[in-house]
Formats: sequence, structure tokens, C-alpha cells
Amino acid sequence: MNRFSRRKFLYTAGASAAGAVLLNACVGNPPEPGGEAATEQVKPVDLSPEMTPETTKVVLGYIPILESTALIIAQEKGFFAKYGMNEVQVSKQASWASARDNVIIGSEGGGIDGGQWQMPMPHLISEGIITNGNKLPMYLLAQLSTQGNGIATSGKNQGKGLGLDISSAADYVKGYAKSEGRKFKAAHTFPQVNQDFWIRYWFAAGGVDPDTDIDLLAVPSAETVQGMRNGTMDAFSTGDPWPYRIVTDEIGFMSALTGEIWKFHPEEYLAIRADWVDKNPKATKALLKGVMEAQQWIDDPANTEAVVAIVSGRNYLNVPPDIIRPPYQSNYKMGDGKPDIKDKMMGPLFWKDGIGSVSYPYKSHDLWFLTEGIRWGFHKGKIDDIDTAKQIIDRVNREDIWKEAATEAGFTADIPASTSRGVETFFDGKKFDPENPEAYLNSLEIKKV
Ligand code: CA
Repeated sequence: MNRFSRRKFLYTAGASAAGAVLLNACVGNPPEPGGEAATEQVKPVDLSPEMTPETTKVVLGYIPILESTALIIAQEKGFFAKYGMNEVQVSKQASWASARDNVIIGSEGGGIDGGQWQMPMPHLISEGIITNGNKLPMYLLAQLSTQGNGIATSGKNQGKGLGLDISSAADYVKGYAKSEGRKFKAAHTFPQVNQDFWIRYWFAAGGVDPDTDIDLLAVPSAETVQGMRNGTMDAFSTGDPWPYRIVTDEIGFMSALTGEIWKFHPEEYLAIRADWVDKNPKATKALLKGVMEAQQWIDDPANTEAVVAIVSGRNYLNVPPDIIRPPYQSNYKMGDGKPDIKDKMMGPLFWKDGIGSVSYPYKSHDLWFLTEGIRWGFHKGKIDDIDTAKQIIDRVNREDIWKEAATEAGFTADIPASTSRGVETFFDGKKFDPENPEAYLNSLEIKKV
């Protein structure tokens, strides 16, 4: 079955559970969820020999959260196939740890060749830091999305000033051991990557040391949400669609969106094993072109309903469309008496944001992640200084391949002029100048370095 008829089949099978809908389907063509835009495939282009990929197959892992949208859309809309990659497998991973283990195995052993990653997982896997010393060189090829994450806090902590700036609530948080008989407890889904960085930044900016004043742990999402319901978990650093569910299910409120903490921050990335890319350079560029086209398609509000229909499907996120529509519309209920946020520039963006390219992998962003790792003493003895960080980035970040692919696809107007996005500013006024990361580290009050 091709993808088109599989979608038709799924629709019909779902409809047969409801008699009225089945009757409709017998009378005429039922409306497709998301309309024609959700099922229509783009046409393949005629490929010149120099653009014909070495292989049509690759296995790309993804985690069922909104950051995977570009991979799902590139597959379902035929953007990968358009450039000759017509045997791509987009493979759901049970967790970040599974994705890491599967990329070490590789597709030939039943694992994956690459896919979606939090940062700086590709750098840490390349250096053997999160793989028991097993160094697997990887190439970072594109950013998949910006923003779309947040800090959720349990309902138990309402009315205590746990918003974007928690400095007025710092004593309340630190006093938990006395008042509750345990420390304030917070979670992310994998240590030493994005979600851990966002919640650490937020706590530290408000005067709470995430290593000593609270308990901060890696906990699976479902378990965290259960803990927030029953009062044993206090905060959760997480991606869409969880922020929406936590507020609408009355489990808690949103303390901050990551777009408020750091506007247009780097989020998750596409990275593939270096051996696969080196062996298949044309196929790599074909995949990148597919991702780039998907990202542009997703950002077009005219396609939002189609994106919702495809991504919510049972073979992908497998959630009711109503749960993921608000995040794609950048429509956030915050709770705890705060006004809702309805701002396209505050939610997930895929191709362009208010500064420049989302898709292009700026080396200056890799440098922030590795600098922040130095701040928290994450990789002592392995990444201790900025020079080491820069050397790793030069090995892993392949923005040159992104630029080649963008040029071949005709997206030259969207190629940034520099590998640096320049000085980045956080909500608390701190600045990260990629030309002087030491000044940023010096400016921080709470750190381990
Ligand atoms: Ca994320």
C-alpha cells in the first residue's frame, strides 16, 4: 500500500466504528481530516546525475513530540521522495535513551542512521560521553524547530509567584524541605540536554541552585504528570503538547514558555551518523532539501489543519487533533492567573523566526549548549574549556552541507551570512556573546565553574 492509500484505509477503518460516519462515507467522498493538503503528495523532480542519491533508504528516528514535525511532514507529503529518497523510514523511538542506543547500532543492525536529537546529544555521542566511551562520529545537519517548550508547575504551587521570574518565590522553593519534609522536586526527560538546560536556567535566574536547593531528576513524562497530579512532583521541563495538556487537564500551570526565557532559542536538530553521510553525500543533501521544504510548508498557516491531521495520526503522535492544534497555532493557556499567550512568534517555528533561519544550524548555538554544559560541570575532564568545545563543534556541525543543499534547492535567499547568529539575550538580561563565552560564564551567579 502506498502512503496515500494507507491514509485512506486508516480513515475508513476509523469511520467504520461510527455508523453515521460510515453512512456518510457510503453516500459520497467523506471529507479527509485536514483536507486535500493532508493527503496530496508533491511530485518527484527529474534528478540530474549529480543530484541522484547514492541510496534511496535511510532510517530516521523521532520522538513523538512537535519537534519531529518536519521529519513526519517530509515523509508524508513526499518531500523526501521528491528528491529521490523514496524509501525513508521515519521510526518512532521509545525514549531519548533508545534513540541514542539505536544510532550506535545503525540501520544495518536494526537501529537507526540518525534523526531527531536534543542538544548537544550529537556532540556527546560523537565524543563517547553518553555512550560508555563508545565514540560514534555524527554530523549535525539542520535545526528542526525553535521554541515550543516550557516549564510546567503543579497546581499545588499556585499563587506563589512561580512565573517567568521566580526571584520572589525563591525562598518558598528553597523552604520546601522545612515546610514539606522534602525538597522541591522537578523533572526533565533526559539529563544534560535542552529540557535540563531550560529548567536550570530558569531556576538559577531566580536565585535557586538546581543542584543543591531542589531535586532535579530525569523522569519519564507520564510518570512526571502522575506525580504532578498527586502532589509528589512540582515542576516539569517539557515540550508541546504537554504544556497544553497540563493546563487543560488542570494538573498545573505554565510558569514560562521557553520562548519567554530565550526568544527564538535553538531547540531540536537533525543529525545523522558521519559514516552514513560520508558514504551518501548526495542522499544527505536530498534529505536536507526534503526537510527544508517540509519546514516551509509547516510554517504556512494555510497548512496548519493538514499538519494537525497528519501529525496527530495513529502512526505518529497518536493523540486527538484538538490536543496539538493549539500549540501549532501558538495558542497557550498559562494558568495561575496569567493571561493566555496567542502569539505566532512565541510558539514552535520551523523555517524562519523573527531573527533569521530556524533550519540553518548556527555554530554559535552549539557553542551555547557546550558552554552551558561547562557552566554546570556536566563533562568534567572531557569538555572543560571553550577551545575544546569549539574543536568538537568544528567536527560535528556540518552547516556547509546545509548551505550546499539550500543552494541546490534554490533557497539561497535564506542562507545566513555567518555561522554565528551573534549576541543572544535572555529574559533576565544576561547576554551570550559567541565571541566571548567566558564573559557570559563570568556574568552568571549560580554555576559550578
Ligand atoms: Ca524539546
